[in-house]
Amino acid sequence: MSSPSTVEEATIAELSARLSGALLRPGDAGYDEARRLHNGMIDRRPALIARCRGTADVVDAVNFARTHRLEIAVRGGGHNVAGKAVCDGGLMIDLSLMKGIHVDPLRRAVRAQGGVTWREFNRETQVHRLATTGGTISTTGIAGLTLGGGLGWLMGKHGLAVDNLLSAEVVTASGEVVLANEKENGDLFWGLRGGGGNFGVASSLEYRLNPVGPVTSGLVAHPFESTRDVLRFFREVTSSLPDELTLFGGLLHAPDGSGTRLAVLIACHCGASGEAEAALRPIKAFGQPAMDTIGPASYEQTNMMLDEAFPRGALNYWKSNFLAELSDAAIEILSARFSTCPSPMSGLVLEHMHGAATRVRVSETAFPHRSEGYNLLIVSEWLDPGDTDRNVAWTRETYDAMQPYFARGRYVNYLGADEGDEPIQAAYGPNFARLRALKSKYDPTNLFHLNQNIRPGA
Ligand SMILES: Cc1cc2nc3c(=O)[nH]c(=O)nc-3n(C[C@H](O)[C@H](O)[C@H](O)COP(=O)(O)OP(=O)(O)OC[C@H]3O[C@@H](n4cnc5c(N)ncnc54)[C@H](O)[C@@H]3O)c2cc1C
Repeated sequence: MSSPSTVEEATIAELSARLSGALLRPGDAGYDEARRLHNGMIDRRPALIARCRGTADVVDAVNFARTHRLEIAVRGGGHNVAGKAVCDGGLMIDLSLMKGIHVDPLRRAVRAQGGVTWREFNRETQVHRLATTGGTISTTGIAGLTLGGGLGWLMGKHGLAVDNLLSAEVVTASGEVVLANEKENGDLFWGLRGGGGNFGVASSLEYRLNPVGPVTSGLVAHPFESTRDVLRFFREVTSSLPDELTLFGGLLHAPDGSGTRLAVLIACHCGASGEAEAALRPIKAFGQPAMDTIGPASYEQTNMMLDEAFPRGALNYWKSNFLAELSDAAIEILSARFSTCPSPMSGLVLEHMHGAATRVRVSETAFPHRSEGYNLLIVSEWLDPGDTDRNVAWTRETYDAMQPYFARGRYVNYLGADEGDEPIQAAYGPNFARLRALKSKYDPTNLFHLNQNIRPGA
């Protein structure tokens, strides 16, 4: 890789003049804001930031980086905890100004550009009482989340974000603009649905929309002392959920900063209110909750209900793994580990997958994790850099203590930056070999390698 100091000034000026957006360099106004990501642990300084306004800007940026052998980082919503959306010394292709969203209510479809967040997306689609599965919080980018899979509140009924992807416009490593859908470039379309940012820059994504009116959603919080009972109940109730109800369990801290530990159930039912009431009754009736916010809400509000727990710039270190089962012994360990959690912002979340998200064949999309069950997400968040070592150590120790209960499968969008090759294979699972062959076809020189990287190979 070369550095821009070896790229002639005139050539950089030429790129800058061509872009509809801006080309930023260290010291320029807006440079520091543009290089910053959601995770405050990430502090990298690209030599150039191309703040793209459209597909043509992305094409120019990719061609420029390839020609001048600059490392490329691609930023969608900037939320990935691993922080691969920014590089040191190379060219950051920043899509965060690409906010176009066009809803076609008759076709029940929407095309959105690569810098859109779920909050912006929901705002436009909900005008028509339509929605697709996005993440569980609204500040995440649609692009990175979708390309890795996309677990969210509507997945029991409507599948993952990838299952609703109809097409994507992709700028490939050669600078070509291709459309990928079931009919055109079907192999690429398969790889985009779970293979992350390995195959090019998705300048826009088109999704199927589903009728989603007001939902019934919220959180029931129990005293930490009842963890055992709450998580056993969670296990029992998730064994027979209707598709409309997506339910997460976990151990969280009270949002008031008091450090009070809670055992929680978080629900979203996207069906008719009568059905929602019936399905949620046992959850609301269980035990003696300290708090119960479950009730009617808009889907937009539901997607924002946890946003405040994830402030931009907080320091984050996460680990996650699918569980083979949520056994009593696993519950004991979760409870014991949470009692030693060093930050009042951190939590242990059990994301339950069932319904439509699990009725897709493993080979149908690149995202391979289609079994009913739980993904354990250890979310460590803190504010003071002086607390970093003990929070990282706690996360790793908690992850290690849970090893005996893990399945061999990891969610690519939650992988950290420090995990090596094996987790990457666990993330792509049985689809790994096919993804490698696809990488060889679309990006044989591994131009796009700042991601959970699939190295080209037969
Ligand atoms: C607070 C929080 C909550 C989350 N909740 C959920 C959740 O509920 N469900 C879930 O499934 N995941 C969730 N995630 C994980 C999330 O899916 C990933 O972090 C995802 O990568 C975020 O996408 P982004 O576009 O914001 O990220 P970015 O950091 O911008 O991108 C991540 C990577 O994706 C690739 N990429 C991004 N945009 C493009 C593009 N347009 N074209 C090609 N490649 C691209 C790049 O390789 C980039 O490094 C959450 C993350 C956070 C921090």
